Order: sequence, then C-alpha cells, then structure tokens
Amino acid sequence: MSRDQQILMQMLEESGALRRGHFLLSSGLHSSAYVQCALLLEDPVRARKVGHDLAELLRQFHPDSVLSPALGGVIIGHEVAAGLGVPFRFTERKGEEMGLRRGFTLRQGERVVIVEDVVTTGRSTLETASLATARGARVVAIGAIIDRTAGRDPFDVPFRALLQLDLPSYGPAECPACRSGALPAEKPGSRPEAVAKPAAETEERQSERVEPPADRAG
Ligand SMILES: [Zn+2]
Repeated sequence: MSRDQQILMQMLEESGALRRGHFLLSSGLHSSAYVQCALLLEDPVRARKVGHDLAELLRQFHPDSVLSPALGGVIIGHEVAAGLGVPFRFTERKGEEMGLRRGFTLRQGERVVIVEDVVTTGRSTLETASLATARGARVVAIGAIIDRTAGRDPFDVPFRALLQLDLPSYGPAECPACRSGALPAEKPGSRPEAVAKPAAETEERQSERVEPPADRAG
C-alpha cells in the first residue's frame, strides 16, 4: 500500500466511513463490511484532497467533463471536476431508468470520465456510461475512490481507483451472516427500520385481526 493509500485508509477509519457488520449493498450483495463515503466526504477539506488525488489519476485521459450517478457520485465527481478544471454533471434515477435531467447536455464526441464513490458490481456506473454513449459522448475512463470489484473489473475502458478494498461480498443465498441467523442485513444509509430479512427467513407473519364488536340487538 502506498503512502497516499495508507492516508486514505486512515481517513476512512477516522471518519467512520468503514463499518463492520452485516450489510445489504445497493448491488443486492451482502457484506460484512461497508464503506459509507458520505462520511469520508462530509469534511470538505478531506473531500477536496480525495477529489484532487483522483483527478490526478484521471488527467492522463484528457477528459472534457466528469459525469457521475447521483447520489453517491455527486460530491466526489464534483471535486474531481474541480481538480481537472472541467464541468461536472450528474445522472439520476427516476424509477428504474437512469436519466440526464436539469438541462444537462453532452456534446457529440465529448470526452467524459465517469466518477463514482465506490464501484462494486459497476451497475450504476455502466448505466451512466451507456447513457453518455447513447448521447454521442465518448467515455474515456472510469474513476472511483474505492474499487470493491475484487479484480472483476466490469468495464471496457480504463478503470482507476485510489484504493482497492477486498471486502468480501456474497449473494444472499451464500451469505455466512444470513446462514448463521445473525442480525438481519442492514441497508446502510437508509432509515434504521429499513432492514432486509435474512434469505433463510421465509415465514410469513400473520396480520393481526381486530374483531369487530358484536352487533347489539336494539
Ligand atoms: Zn447476509
């Protein structure tokens, strides 16, 4: 691990961004660790440093702009764009479909880097990339603070991350925490009551019935 990577690891731990437990990731996978980059980035000074470091990794691709999927990519994407001195735009999901709204447009042939906070399966990154391509832009690279792909790089353009974190993640059926019947998987970033049921739990709870009061003969 390089000196910069050690510093980033230390920032992740100090900020509470790296958490241990039983989590349901947005990718649908379960994991015993979760990285909440919003906590890393809540300090603007830290956000700026991380953004500028990532900008330096992406500069060689000569991007004209940065495009990030909301919400996770917005803060880091903006800081990377500031570091590169190029415009920043974001895509957002309405229902299932990823879209470019708010009057944002992409030029024909525009060199775009897609920036994310964490890449695990790369699903939202790939959706953002295909949206850019469909609008005539050219995706020249993908950037992320953290690469959680464990070597399964899903992209066909260069992918650069500040840190590779090999935190194991599992399909719900293979998750050891679910199998042990431990705590239900927490959906991080959601309200505390929004938890996923362990995959093994199949019983259905009967809804309570309230008996109507008996009619009284008048
Ligand atoms: Zn699980």
